[in-house]
Amino acid sequence: MPLHPILVLDQVIDDYRNYIRTEFRAKDPALNAAPELDRPRFLAQEPFFQAHRPFRSGKAWPDLPLDPRLARAMTARTGGAPAYLHQSAAIEELCSPTARPVVVTTGTGSGKTECFLLPVIQNAIEDVARFRQPGLTAILVYPMNALANDQLLRIEQYLEESGFQGAVTVAKYDRGTTQAQREDLRRKPPHILLTNYMMLEYLLVRPADRDGIFANHRCRFLVLDEVHTYRGTLGSNIALLVRRLRTHLQRARQDWRTEVSPHDAPYRFPTLVPVGTSATIKSVSEEAISRQEALRRRDAAVQDFFARLTGVEPATIQVIGEEVEEVQTPPEAQYALQPPAGVSVDVNDSESVHQALCTLAGIDQATPLAEAARQCRLLWDLHHWLIRQPLSITDLVDRVRQTIPGRTDAPLDAVYHEVATALIAGAALPDGTPGALRLRSHRFIRGGWQFHRCLNPACGRLYPLGEAQCSTCGYQTAPLHLCRNCGADYLQLAGDPLEGPLHPFRSGVDEVEWMLYEPSRFETTFADEESEDEPEEETPRARNRRQRNANVPTQMRRRPVLHGSFDPRTLSFSANRTDYPLEVILAPARIRCLCCGGTAGSRNVVAPLSIGTSAALKVLGEGLLGALDLAHRTFTGHDGKERLLIFCDSRQDAAHQARFITFASRYDRMRRNLVRLLEQEGPLTIQRAVELLADRGVRERDNPHVPEAPRQRLSLEERERIRAWEEAPVLDELALSASYRATLINLGLVGVVYEGLHEVVQESGSKVAEALDIDLPALEHLCRCLLDEIRMRGALSRPMLRYHPQHTSCPR
Ligand SMILES: [Zn+2]
Ligand SMILES: [Zn+2]
Repeated sequence: MPLHPILVLDQVIDDYRNYIRTEFRAKDPALNAAPELDRPRFLAQEPFFQAHRPFRSGKAWPDLPLDPRLARAMTARTGGAPAYLHQSAAIEELCSPTARPVVVTTGTGSGKTECFLLPVIQNAIEDVARFRQPGLTAILVYPMNALANDQLLRIEQYLEESGFQGAVTVAKYDRGTTQAQREDLRRKPPHILLTNYMMLEYLLVRPADRDGIFANHRCRFLVLDEVHTYRGTLGSNIALLVRRLRTHLQRARQDWRTEVSPHDAPYRFPTLVPVGTSATIKSVSEEAISRQEALRRRDAAVQDFFARLTGVEPATIQVIGEEVEEVQTPPEAQYALQPPAGVSVDVNDSESVHQALCTLAGIDQATPLAEAARQCRLLWDLHHWLIRQPLSITDLVDRVRQTIPGRTDAPLDAVYHEVATALIAGAALPDGTPGALRLRSHRFIRGGWQFHRCLNPACGRLYPLGEAQCSTCGYQTAPLHLCRNCGADYLQLAGDPLEGPLHPFRSGVDEVEWMLYEPSRFETTFADEESEDEPEEETPRARNRRQRNANVPTQMRRRPVLHGSFDPRTLSFSANRTDYPLEVILAPARIRCLCCGGTAGSRNVVAPLSIGTSAALKVLGEGLLGALDLAHRTFTGHDGKERLLIFCDSRQDAAHQARFITFASRYDRMRRNLVRLLEQEGPLTIQRAVELLADRGVRERDNPHVPEAPRQRLSLEERERIRAWEEAPVLDELALSASYRATLINLGLVGVVYEGLHEVVQESGSKVAEALDIDLPALEHLCRCLLDEIRMRGALSRPMLRYHPQHTSCPR
């Protein structure tokens, strides 16, 4: 089943909603339901869509000025398809003897790399044929190492496929280049050198490297990849770097074949041609101007930028952008007379897609599918509108109502339904059907949740991004906290309650916090536990108060716990219980829950209800990978690995997200495997569970310590390492971080049984029970609670828990 760009994202967002609900393990059922999560556009904004059109074709590979073997390799790679027009143009320009500087500015997936890689390889091939001598012919500079690694691999593949590996040499100069490798590079400079701007700087200031690598060079190309990243200070640095590089190249040692024929001179001492690549550049306010004018302005802006970066004449710079196929609306295409109502599309059923298109075009249902798509004018209009810029459904509805005479007065909802149906049906058409929409969908999904709740008990609305004031009732809001143990909710306030009104806690401000807890909301819990021999004269309310106060310490962290009443409108507190409408307890810390009495070792048991961007990113990423897996599973030759590209704000952020995903995925993997295992095998000891998890890891080759090459027997040490890697997260889940919100035990997926506890209590517990004045089942329960507490503090008899994390025997 192909990936449907609209429905897949809807599914991923649904999964995300479920994930957030899992985090919401609140005691109060009203909070658990969190109806806000179902409000439209709460989790994600309206989708934006963009239609992809095929790039316009250029020349066939063999017709380009490339070596026939290279052209053949490219033809095989593209399955016989010609080069794109922009590739064709760039290759012809750069392979010509009078090549001018080029900037390729095309979108992702446009084969931008080939625009410069093929001329660079072609030039090196010709150099080899002409001189048979090591020497630089091109320097490729990338902003990031990852890009250089990726492209080194690609160049090597092209050389191999065209039979030039070994003849044309290519090397990387980066932080990973060893002293010995640098020595080699100095002795025998590669034809093509890949580096990043930091390392190019080092190369220029290391005289031995510079002199050796630049000696007798025939450097024709300087490629600067992703030039749009070189702005501001970095741009100035790069501009100076390029000028210094050029000077060094001009002064490089040339002591081999300095006397060449006039014919060979331009190849022996070529002019350096700078080449840049960039993401698609759009000039501002394209709406008001013609396409020609927009292109002219874009070119001028790019020329100006690249000229300043590389010091060449702006007018000589060739800017090559992408050209897409035109859309021709068939003349007979039309809209239905009225926006059709109640059309539902099942994208897995081609008949349903077919009927939807006939209805949208207002034509006979017997019209064949391809013809129905041809006649559906809305489909073609969507192509026209979405090819230029991303638009939301609301934007598209506006366009339909503005431009289609029959829709001017049509109800908004009806047109919305019409457009949404056309998008879903159009994207479900098989590739190659005229009118099939190849959509890119963009969704903005909220992460970085910091839930606040309205202080008004009668309202209690949730605000996911810490909005300060309730838009429904006008009361203030405060950060919402939940007990990790029982789910009781608290609101976080600050100030001095005995001096004057409090105010909502603000993060980043150093203030004294007070956790507002409303015990009466959870009274029923206590009423359930009441015993029958209570003194008769006590009122139920007083009894409840006495019971819950039994749980409440008088102070925490050496500050008093305050009982009294509270006014949610003014945030005033009084130690007198009847001054204000709300009976409350103010806790000065979050180390113990006032509702259940629970603690969490040295951590706070009451924690803010917030979900970081990393967690959101991980959930969304997993959803997308799952969808890709489903879509690709049936493809022949698919390696079963899905790729997802995640862009981050900065290198630091990328490293942080990668760490988080790796870390969290290891736990999720363990959770899935452990639950599956227990379902199959029934109760297991920790030791046995770890063994079986390790066996599975070996069998499925899903453990980083399983050796690359499959082997019959693993050494004892290997087996131990595999087991340790499986065991660490299991122990963490059962023993060390056992109080985290979403552990297997807290989610109710796995229970812990203490083997033999029942027997021990039955055999030898009667004395203790008698002394405590409780019966044997109660004693067993008490023992279990104590054992739970011991377990959650990590006091298990497992060798792994004896060591400090830094200890060598502690698994990575
Ligand atoms: Zn409110
Ligand atoms: Zn609690």
